[in-house]
Amino acid sequence: NVKINPCFYVARLANSQFIFICLMFLTGNQNIPKPRRILRSSWGSNPYIRGSYSFTRVGSSGRDVEKLAEPLPYIKNTKVLFAGEATHRKYYSTTHGALLSGQREPCGAFSSPYSEVL
Ligand SMILES: Cc1cc2nc3c(=O)[nH]c(=O)nc-3n(C[C@H](O)[C@H](O)[C@H](O)COP(=O)(O)OP(=O)(O)OC[C@H]3O[C@@H](n4cnc5c(N)ncnc54)[C@H](O)[C@@H]3O)c2cc1C
Repeated sequence: NVKINPCFYVARLANSQFIFICLMFLTGNQNIPKPRRILRSSWGSNPYIRGSYSFTRVGSSGRDVEKLAEPLPYIKNTKVLFAGEATHRKYYSTTHGALLSGQREPCGAFSSPYSEVL
């Protein structure tokens, strides 16, 4: 009964398996047309990198960060929310940005003790 890190498990899946899991998770519909092409990163499992964080490149803006934070529409009464450093407009690329984004999503933007900085 070995515990496997889900991230490393998913990182080793073939694209076809990965697409199937994503589509089932997001839609629950096996008949939805599969994408012809996907782009996956593997920074976390790369032994020379071991992680990554977002940045705003030339030409991008805080509005792009806000777009990443937008929830997906309701699917069968389930709303898909996004947290993580890349979704925090002010503190992207930091650990505290990740923390604040996690507090924002389940609680609502105005119930967090950190709401004054969100
Ligand atoms: C080298 C380096 C140095 C840094 N130094 C600092 C610093 O000094 N100060 C600072 O504030 N920040 C620093 N950061 C940034 C900080 O580590 C990140 O901003 C923060 O960890 C982001 O947290 P997160 O929860 O958004 O994402 P992560 O910490 O990346 O968490 C994402 C989680 O999702 C899991 N995951 C990914 N894909 C899947 C999948 N398909 N299925 C299941 N699970 C999955 C991963 O295993 C991971 O546990 C540094 C980052 C790096 C890489």
